[in-house]
Amino acid sequence: MLRFILKPDRDKSIRQRHPWVFSGAVARRSGPVHPGETVDIISSEGVWLARGTASTHSQMVARLWTWQRDEELDPSFIRQRIERAIKGREQLHNDPQTNAYRVIFSESDGLPGLIVDRFADWLVVQLLTQGAVAHTAIIVAALAELMPVRGIYERSDVEIRAREGLGEAEGLLWGEAPPDQLTIRENGYEFVLDLAGGQKTGWYVDQRINRQRVAQYAKDAEVLGVFSYTGGFEVLAAGAGAQSITAVDSSAAALRGLHTNLSQNGLNTPVTAVEGDAFKILRQLREEGKQYDLIVLDPPKFAHSQSQIDRATRGYKDINMQAFHLLRPGGVLATFSCSGLISADLFQKVVFGAALDAGRDAQIIDTLTQGGDHPVLLTFPEAAYLKGLICRVW
Ligand code: SAH
Repeated sequence: MLRFILKPDRDKSIRQRHPWVFSGAVARRSGPVHPGETVDIISSEGVWLARGTASTHSQMVARLWTWQRDEELDPSFIRQRIERAIKGREQLHNDPQTNAYRVIFSESDGLPGLIVDRFADWLVVQLLTQGAVAHTAIIVAALAELMPVRGIYERSDVEIRAREGLGEAEGLLWGEAPPDQLTIRENGYEFVLDLAGGQKTGWYVDQRINRQRVAQYAKDAEVLGVFSYTGGFEVLAAGAGAQSITAVDSSAAALRGLHTNLSQNGLNTPVTAVEGDAFKILRQLREEGKQYDLIVLDPPKFAHSQSQIDRATRGYKDINMQAFHLLRPGGVLATFSCSGLISADLFQKVVFGAALDAGRDAQIIDTLTQGGDHPVLLTFPEAAYLKGLICRVW
């Protein structure tokens, strides 16, 4: 079997079960490396440490799957890991209010590079590393056996695959193709998705609990939902008795989806959908003297690498400052960041700076994170990426 022998003193993080091995830690490879092949990690003293999959392309030359020497990355091991992930979501499988959630969350579920979301009777799979791709057949067979679904669809058409030297991939992996319009249930509401054509895996399952938490402040409120996509937050706000909804998104298709989702739930709350760049529209709304009681800011990931952190924090500060200006005294701001590279601490500092610049007093009344179907493995804190603050603004 292929072995990577580490440089002296580079074994600490691996002994602490961190699943990433960078090229700088490796002194020598036992032979040529093939994409996604199994590799053993050996300390400079020759001690076996862990087993994972190799990448021929990324700076992250191996992702670790197990620290037990008798575990091979074979069908029964992968099946066990998938079984464990499914068992960990038991409550969700049995929740009559929800049939859209994450079933497998990559490293946190001991399956690096594999993301699986359930949407009603379909699974959507992302294979993000050479190691995950190398095990596609085993993964699909195990999922088909262990999850009672009609089809498994791949949505690996994401840029991050380029880091692994993988092209974008999309298509049916098993069973029946999903319908163009698939209705899912979340928090007791229905949403219509296009699994094949939508953004990301078609629906942002990570905000499920937060949509409910935010909707608590929506009764009788004039709501502004910025980066609304197809209305995850806005539909729940309407259902909770919002007086009106203004939704902003740069995607016309997303805003059409928002209208569909409101009517799917029989909601006839007055809606203004504004298509365009949120940074500009927030300024325009301010110039028009608009005021709101509840504002949701749920932007896409602004920081994709260390070098983008400064620019990202300026972006977060700007939209938050604009939102503070647009809130009536006593109003509520629900503000999120899904950039893993921006810590919860840093995000809070950015929101603090925004409030200060806007000259508003703001109190944190709730602190939000990703749902428990996106667990954070204690040995892998990098899995924590979504953070949110609900602030009362005076
Ligand atoms: N709140 C949504 C998810 C938002 S995802 C939910 O709960 O489902 C981020 C959204 O921001 C996407 O719909 C994307 O189209 C939109 N977006 C990205 N850049 C934007 C910009 N500069 N201005 C407005 N919308 C933008």
